[in-house]
Amino acid sequence: MFLFQKISVDKLQEGLQTKRFGRSIFFRREVGSTNDWAKELARRGAEEGTVAIGETQTGGRGRLDRKWISPRGGLWFSVVLRPRMSPSEAVGLVFVAGLAVAEVLQEEFGLKVETKWPNDVLINGRKVCGILAEMNTKGRTVNFVVLGLGVNANFLVEKVFPESLKKAATSVEKELGQKVQLEELFKAVLEKLESSYDQCAERGLAFLLAKWKKHAAFLGRKVEVRSGSEKLLGVALDVDDDGALVLRLEDGSTRRVLAGDVSLRL
Ligand code: ADP
Repeated sequence: MFLFQKISVDKLQEGLQTKRFGRSIFFRREVGSTNDWAKELARRGAEEGTVAIGETQTGGRGRLDRKWISPRGGLWFSVVLRPRMSPSEAVGLVFVAGLAVAEVLQEEFGLKVETKWPNDVLINGRKVCGILAEMNTKGRTVNFVVLGLGVNANFLVEKVFPESLKKAATSVEKELGQKVQLEELFKAVLEKLESSYDQCAERGLAFLLAKWKKHAAFLGRKVEVRSGSEKLLGVALDVDDDGALVLRLEDGSTRRVLAGDVSLRL
């Protein structure tokens, strides 16, 4: 069992089918936050595609500095990107990551996945992966983006997570009934990430979003959205080409939301 949880550094690159992503990999058994580490690498000039990966994170973060629980057995890594995009376009890179994870879990493992706006991948309505995109800009130029991906892989949430999260989260092991090779999962996700990212640069975010939306089970459903101090109720109509959530509110008007938390209303 231990074998599946300890990452073998050599195997992370063995047979990796990418051109740029993961050509340079920084690995530690334990790290504070892979996003913080990747940002530090990026500030020191790390090339696009540089990866920071940890076996566990002691200070994993979600959006708004929420804690991201990162036990051994999960896949916790961040990639440095240097997109030639405007800051508003680069916001859409979070969808590139979600799509990559969703496609790998579905195609390689046969799992039925959903994407949830803006940054989650779910199985049976429970979060299996979280994504944290952080951008560094100068004026209207993007210096770099760090894309952090956390996949609950080889552990059982009921054993390692606090009570409050046991219903909201799941893991690949739980859904599959067995562990997966972390290094293989890493390579598959990284390969998808590179190809989706290149597609996004060549064909635009709308092309990628169309694929992402095929997994977006919340579209057409009644949702509650918390955005800042606001709570909005309505039907999730679409995610537009800027990545904003389009809602039809209860009074019939439509509203675009740029950031927020969505939950389904039953
Ligand atoms: P959201 O998923 O709502 O977009 P974040 O991306 O900010 O939120 O993720 C942080 C939240 O995810 C935490 O507040 C916690 O509720 C939950 N969480 C923390 N660690 C995990 C994990 N490993 N798997 C699933 N959910 C987690």
